[in-house]
Amino acid sequence: KLYNQVQDLKGNIRVYCRVRPFLNGQPNLVTTVDSIEEGNIVITIPSKYGKESRRLFSFNKVFGPAATQAAVFQDTQALIRSVLDGFNVCIFAYGQTGSGKTFTMTGPNELKEESLGVNYWALSDLFVLANQRKDTISYDNSVQMLEIYNEQAIYFSQNGINVPEANLVPVSSTSDVINLMNLGHKNRAVSSTAMNDRSSRSHSCLTVHVQGRNLTSGGILRGSMHLVDLAGSERVDKSEVTGDRLKEAQHINKSLAALGDVIASLVQKSTHVLYMNSKLTQLLQDSLGGQAKTLMFVHISPEPDALGETLSTLKFAERVA
Ligand code: ADP
Ligand code: MG
Repeated sequence: KLYNQVQDLKGNIRVYCRVRPFLNGQPNLVTTVDSIEEGNIVITIPSKYGKESRRLFSFNKVFGPAATQAAVFQDTQALIRSVLDGFNVCIFAYGQTGSGKTFTMTGPNELKEESLGVNYWALSDLFVLANQRKDTISYDNSVQMLEIYNEQAIYFSQNGINVPEANLVPVSSTSDVINLMNLGHKNRAVSSTAMNDRSSRSHSCLTVHVQGRNLTSGGILRGSMHLVDLAGSERVDKSEVTGDRLKEAQHINKSLAALGDVIASLVQKSTHVLYMNSKLTQLLQDSLGGQAKTLMFVHISPEPDALGETLSTLKFAERVA
């Protein structure tokens, strides 16, 4: 009951937290997660940082390490329906590198159906729902993949032309999407060997554009969905990096801070929202605020080593929740 009230108050912006499990082969370490209950997560701050203490964070929902991809995806289904109703939707994955962002959005490295992530299920649902409406509305869907690296948008296109229109690919089935995602994967893999895992230092965005034509009235509706795997949120020690690495880190800090500021001012219903402070918020401007719906998945790692980043991730998330 209370949970529903909270959701109503928060309107179009929701924040979910997901805790990654310990990975195979990892020793069974002590976890920083003390407890998880509905939307609450309690983090243990061990005595080596002073007196042992606990800190509670509250979100719309918290998924523990055992949560399946299906459970995580279930809550996004209402959003997919609203895309087909003509709304704009953004789903973000936020967190430090290694916390599970790509696992949530795309899936693990070996893609098996039961482990596929939000991107795949969102598109698959979109086709199913569009098909259910085919007697009243005819939908055209197209997909676009882009990466934001050092405040520049790079569009993946088969013909090598780096403009938004060049890589709008019409899609009509989930296999079309899988093919496209594999292509994107290959592109990212190439750049990751060339540039030392650039994927964690760029924002990767899969956008779906939906256009529906009402078969009786001829009226057109347009909706869009942005599925964004953000760059790693970890702080880079400025005393340890220089040159390109420092520049990358500064761009990432700037754009994640700008995203946090935009969402926080939308939550506070501020009339002054600064979209122009980063490429990311600039590109997503039409899909953040107004009637648009936003879902932020914040990811944390369970290891004590990650405590500092875990706390800063949860504080970031608390501010936008
Ligand atoms: P990020 O994209 O945030 O850097 P990844 O998604 O690549 O992190 O996750 C790091 C590692 O942890 C990968 O090997 C991934 O398959 C694994 N992993 C992440 N989340 C989960 C999960 N919920 N269940 C099982 N393995 C996970
Ligand atoms: Mg990743």
